[in-house]
Amino acid sequence: MPILMQGLLTSSTRQDYDMTFKKYELPPLPYKLDALEPYISKDIVDVHYNGHHKGYVNGANGLLDRLDKVVSGGLAQGQYDVQGILRGLTFNINGHKLHALYWNSMAPSGKGGGKPGGSIGDLISKQYGSFERFKQVMTESANSLPGTGWTALYYDQETGNLQIMTIENHFMNHIGELPIVLIVDEFEHAYYLQYKNKRADYVDAWWNLVNWDFADQRLRKFL
Ligand code: FE
Repeated sequence: MPILMQGLLTSSTRQDYDMTFKKYELPPLPYKLDALEPYISKDIVDVHYNGHHKGYVNGANGLLDRLDKVVSGGLAQGQYDVQGILRGLTFNINGHKLHALYWNSMAPSGKGGGKPGGSIGDLISKQYGSFERFKQVMTESANSLPGTGWTALYYDQETGNLQIMTIENHFMNHIGELPIVLIVDEFEHAYYLQYKNKRADYVDAWWNLVNWDFADQRLRKFL
């Protein structure tokens, strides 16, 4: 049974503070649609950014409108499922935030890949022994992800560990605001047009695009 908000906030509450939820905006793609070729095709980036990412932003904003109606008393009791709204918001907000990180985790062909320097290079060497060992473990993690989701590298501020993490789908009721420094999208829309069912080939290709400067900047924000 869905949990319904039992008219906790009435139209009179609305008069006390005339607020609305601020909307999300689709951030500009940090490079041209064909900048990731040949590793990721223009068609994939077009559908992925203009279709999927924009869809998450629009989805989140539509649900914020609906939540606003709930808060303002514009929907009568029984006309909404607040848990459904919150679950949908989580899915769309995480979809938006994780894609924003994903685009920045890559650089145009020829400008990304290779080995990291800076603080992130040092921490990877310290934590994993060598870059090669780190890359092997992160690749194994990405290739063993069940179904769809993400593989991310994040900085655990409690322990100082640079931690590999898988995010299965992204609709659990938890907003992904972890200190993620690098992320690879493993939903089929991220690779299927070009790689079909060869997800491991896509992950291999992705390493050629990794934007280590971005990862280093992100890490230094959290250190
Ligand atoms: Fe995606």
